[in-house]
Amino acid sequence: MAYDIIIIGAGPAGASAALFSAKAGKSTLVIDNDQSVTKRAWIENHYGVDGITGPDLVEIGKKQAAKFGAEFVQGKAAQLNQAGDGFQVTTENGTYEGKYVILATGLSVDLAEASGIQTKPGTEPRIKTVVDTDAQGNTSLKGVWAAGTIAGVSMHTIVTAGDGAKVAINVISELNGARYVDHDVLKA
Ligand SMILES: Cc1cc2nc3c(=O)[nH]c(=O)nc-3n(C[C@H](O)[C@H](O)[C@H](O)COP(=O)(O)OP(=O)(O)OC[C@H]3O[C@@H](n4cnc5c(N)ncnc54)[C@H](O)[C@@H]3O)c2cc1C
Repeated sequence: MAYDIIIIGAGPAGASAALFSAKAGKSTLVIDNDQSVTKRAWIENHYGVDGITGPDLVEIGKKQAAKFGAEFVQGKAAQLNQAGDGFQVTTENGTYEGKYVILATGLSVDLAEASGIQTKPGTEPRIKTVVDTDAQGNTSLKGVWAAGTIAGVSMHTIVTAGDGAKVAINVISELNGARYVDHDVLKA
């Protein structure tokens, strides 16, 4: 089965992208190898959250996405290849097919580099290399997008999570052929 969207990385950027993708009804697979730097954080600057541990933020994010049907597999994505109209992502445990891929691999550009995706020097403190994206999150490989730290945004959970949402909305909009908005309304 080919997923609509495969997301690599389940930190704030990846899990937030997965939440939007799954809630939009897109079949969504998240591949993650549990190396999120966010698991070392204590966070007091995430709007709307009055202090939270990094591990709790990451776990809640994954649960939110899973609630809407996102599937999660543990493993390191080692290869990303074009296959037909989409992509194959290979881990040590299996190969998965998707129409679109969102890279949300945090500090690691290994997979992007191994896939021939264009990178550039990072501008944020201590970030040496990031994936070169346009303002929408497109990488140099059409159909592969990037979000969060790997895409060069400011390394704060509110920003990386927001960037994951932004990029997912752009991919969903491309799949739908129309701009996508997800607004739930408070019931009276
Ligand atoms: C000690 C510390 C304290 C911090 N404190 C704060 C704070 O107070 N406030 C704040 O806003 N921010 C804080 N941050 C920064 C915050 O953690 C990051 O800005 C943000 O969470 C990064 O999100 P991300 O999703 O881009 O990356 P990550 O959270 O690193 O997630 C990337 C994910 O991709 C996975 N991955 C990578 N490569 C692969 C692969 N090939 N295959 C499968 N999975 C892969 C990793 O396992 C990981 O789960 C702190 C960071 C640190 C290290």
